[in-house]
Amino acid sequence: MKITMIGTGYVGLVSGVCFSDFGHDVVCVDRDPAKIEMLNAGKVPIYEPGLDELMAKNVEAGRLVFTTDLAAGVTGADAVFIAVGTPTRRGDGHADLSFVYAAAEDIAKACAEAGNPYTVIVTKSTVPLGTNRQVKQVIRKAAPDLVFDVASNPEFLREGAAIDDFMKPDRVVVGVQSDRAAEVMEEVYRPLYLRDFPIITTDLESAEMIKYAANAFLATKITFINEIAALCEKTGADVKQVSRGMGMDGRIGNKFLHAGPGYGGSCFPKDTSALARIGQEHAVPMHITETVMRVNDGVKLRMIEKVRDLCEGSFNGKTIAVLGVTFKPNTDDMRDAPSLTIVPALVGGGAKVRVVDPQGAREGKALLPGVQWGDDPYKAVQNADAVVILTEWNEFRALDLKKLAKKMASARMADLRNIYSAKDAKRAGFDAYVSIGRQGFE
Ligand code: NAD
Repeated sequence: MKITMIGTGYVGLVSGVCFSDFGHDVVCVDRDPAKIEMLNAGKVPIYEPGLDELMAKNVEAGRLVFTTDLAAGVTGADAVFIAVGTPTRRGDGHADLSFVYAAAEDIAKACAEAGNPYTVIVTKSTVPLGTNRQVKQVIRKAAPDLVFDVASNPEFLREGAAIDDFMKPDRVVVGVQSDRAAEVMEEVYRPLYLRDFPIITTDLESAEMIKYAANAFLATKITFINEIAALCEKTGADVKQVSRGMGMDGRIGNKFLHAGPGYGGSCFPKDTSALARIGQEHAVPMHITETVMRVNDGVKLRMIEKVRDLCEGSFNGKTIAVLGVTFKPNTDDMRDAPSLTIVPALVGGGAKVRVVDPQGAREGKALLPGVQWGDDPYKAVQNADAVVILTEWNEFRALDLKKLAKKMASARMADLRNIYSAKDAKRAGFDAYVSIGRQGFE
């Protein structure tokens, strides 16, 4: 099969590389020449574990190429995937579909010019209900004689574990309108199908809805446990024990039940916002999702107050070391990370902030002005008044707490990922320790 992937971001690049590893011939197209130049030089523009090796292997095998030339890229393609961004539209919270429609129009013209006999144009980007039908109209208008079908194939991979998620998915969702398109999509995913990974075929709208409903549900689960955590703090319960006890119930499950500083990232904030908008447009308010968004904003603000309390009521003049700023470990993605709310509050309150993150600096430097970047947690805490763990990178999971405490001016820790415990902190000589949904000491 010949596959074209439009967009080489977190989703497009991983999908393109994995499809080529399935044995398909893949052309990855991006309009950003700097990205394509990097890729052609064998460099991966994002941080995603394992991606560089898998990419090199498939480039070497001649199955994977990168170009900015969309017209050349789609020639002879059986399927063209749209994996461009769908960020939140400024002002109204809706998904900005301008990149998707622009790509659809370009693809239509290029496929027609190339004389492709039949092409399935597949939306992999997360798009609101009705978008795929609209994409079909855009294509028809741009290339009235083109023989094509549209398909909706939302992506569920998680950054940081993206290759495994793509290669061993819980399910693949394919929304189609014709048997012909379904057959092409079956062929695309045949290697997964042969290994018994479930592929479910739906109509276009259900596929679009599955993605939003899944993300909103996961955001709800995280937010639920974060709210329970706040109550645990006031009542003496320990949220780690509570989520363990809850998660053992097969109906609930233990995933996405870890209390933390609020959800962030490239998907949950924008997808919950878009779902809320879709609901409003159809006069079916998404009350639960809207509440989740509001509660999550409050969770992030609660973190600021937690750190302020730890700093005896004021950030002014304090030196604070922040460990981790990406929205989760094993990614360099900073989009909507809780750190973008929390760190500026510390800086704005007059603190001197030192940040350590294994991959966050490249994006983070522009997003977090006024902080000092370092690469060693022990250096960052030197004479500091507090240390805040914001992202649970492996590098921060087994810190020598004694060494850390000794270096600090006053040994205070806000462990916003519940990596350590009050007992660990006390034993190591910390003067104060707070975490989420558990008893600390100050
Ligand atoms: P991204 O911003 O990392 O990448 C998008 C890429 O598309 C960029 O490289 C951009 O240059 C390119 N692009 C935009 N318009 C183009 C055009 N007309 N022609 C060629 N290239 C073009 O985005 P992402 O994080 O990969 O997300 C893509 C989509 O996948 C979004 O809809 C997102 O919601 C969805 N998604 C993302 C994740 C994730 O973890 N990041 C997971 C599942 C689904």
